[in-house]
Amino acid sequence: MAYSAFKVFKEAITGHRGWKPVWRTPEPKKEYDIVIVGGGGHGLATAHYLASQYGIKNIAVLEKGWIGSGNVGRNTTIIRSNYLLPENEPFYELSMKLWENMEQDLNYNTMVSQRGVLNLIHSDSQRDVFTRRGNAMKLAGADAQLLEQEGVRKIAPFLDFDNARFPIKGGLLQARGGTVRHDAVAWGYARSADRLGVDIIQNCEVTGFNIENGVCKGVETSKGAIGAKKVALCVAGSSSKLMAFAGRRLPIETHVLQAFVSEGLKPILPGVITFGIGHFYISQSDKGGLVFGGDIDGYNTYAQRGNLPVVEHTCEAGMAIMPMLGRNRLLRMWGGLIDMSMDGSPFIDKTDIGGLYFNGGWCYGGFKATPASGLCYAHLLATDTPHDVAKGFRLDRFLRGGMIDENGAGAQPNLH
Ligand SMILES: Cc1cc2nc3c(=O)[nH]c(=O)nc-3n(C[C@H](O)[C@H](O)[C@H](O)COP(=O)(O)OP(=O)(O)OC[C@H]3O[C@@H](n4cnc5c(N)ncnc54)[C@H](O)[C@@H]3O)c2cc1C
Repeated sequence: MAYSAFKVFKEAITGHRGWKPVWRTPEPKKEYDIVIVGGGGHGLATAHYLASQYGIKNIAVLEKGWIGSGNVGRNTTIIRSNYLLPENEPFYELSMKLWENMEQDLNYNTMVSQRGVLNLIHSDSQRDVFTRRGNAMKLAGADAQLLEQEGVRKIAPFLDFDNARFPIKGGLLQARGGTVRHDAVAWGYARSADRLGVDIIQNCEVTGFNIENGVCKGVETSKGAIGAKKVALCVAGSSSKLMAFAGRRLPIETHVLQAFVSEGLKPILPGVITFGIGHFYISQSDKGGLVFGGDIDGYNTYAQRGNLPVVEHTCEAGMAIMPMLGRNRLLRMWGGLIDMSMDGSPFIDKTDIGGLYFNGGWCYGGFKATPASGLCYAHLLATDTPHDVAKGFRLDRFLRGGMIDENGAGAQPNLH
């Protein structure tokens, strides 16, 4: 069933009785060419690109809960490609281009909205850093615009420009950045992969690997053993748990990150605004709620809910630059498990176990990476060679001294 304006019109006048479930509920087969573990954005995008670009369709995506129950349905929906380092920027710019074509590619309304991402500048040295970053973005083909205070004032006059501690002196704007309806991304990729023949198996938890003589031959699951020529892990915050089943430790810690939504307001925020020094980012959803977030909770956990000190810190950071927030009431909040790598950059790589592949370490920012991560992981799985724009995302980079530390922050997850 392809979606079109005609179809929407027809359903509207015939009582909406013609809509069908958009993916099947198959029983697992005994064996697949590729088993993808994790039905989040990255796992489903990988299945979509494997089937659509590389012609591999004998695939299962195994999800322990339901599609969209992980971070793909919990994030603050921001997409951007404003990175500095040559290992990162071309990758995120490829992702941005894939976002720009996503709705046509998937025939699904994912509500990609390029309303702009503005990073605030508070000091002369920060302006130098953002100028360098803007230039790096332009060199990689992305868009970037450095604004003086007046330019920011035109976009967001309600900010506290004369804040004694964090005066706002300008900003780095990426006009092509913006927001995307997060769970629609999971549904769009799931629908497309299913139509191409991929089995999406929900409520199927992977509990171990079948490894013989250093080669992974399949997985143990809550629905029995499933054989596979290749097993592709894509479980975000559960990465360390899953790799422990294979006897491997990762340079990744799992933390909870919280998201907040306020009561609905008339349109007030023009796009995404980020306050890096206080670690606060905010946008407004199409329903009117202010959607915002801040720092990770500072301890390792697998609990999908956070604690009050970070709520207080996030609200304080918001109030520091946007005092009008104080009159707005918080409607709901939740937490997601994020896979913090030790240099803030991800991994898309083979492991040292034959047939076992790994994708993870997405830290605060894996949602915007979803399309490129899926495409590059599919490339690795199909060809056994890394995609050109993902060559740096190797698991052995800490051994080789090849860290990709965007902020120069070192092995301190909350600073990435
Ligand atoms: C509050 C919050 C805000 C964020 N904001 C942004 C943002 O604005 N922009 C941005 O770019 N990024 C953001 N992120 C990060 C982004 O959401 C993640 O990096 C990204 O979604 C991770 O990839 P995924 O979608 O595949 O993960 P997930 O959706 O978490 O997918 C992993 C899946 O694996 C499944 N799984 C786990 N264990 C097993 C098992 N044993 N067997 C089978 N399945 C298993 C899980 O149930 C889950 O569905 C945010 C994250 C959070 C939590």
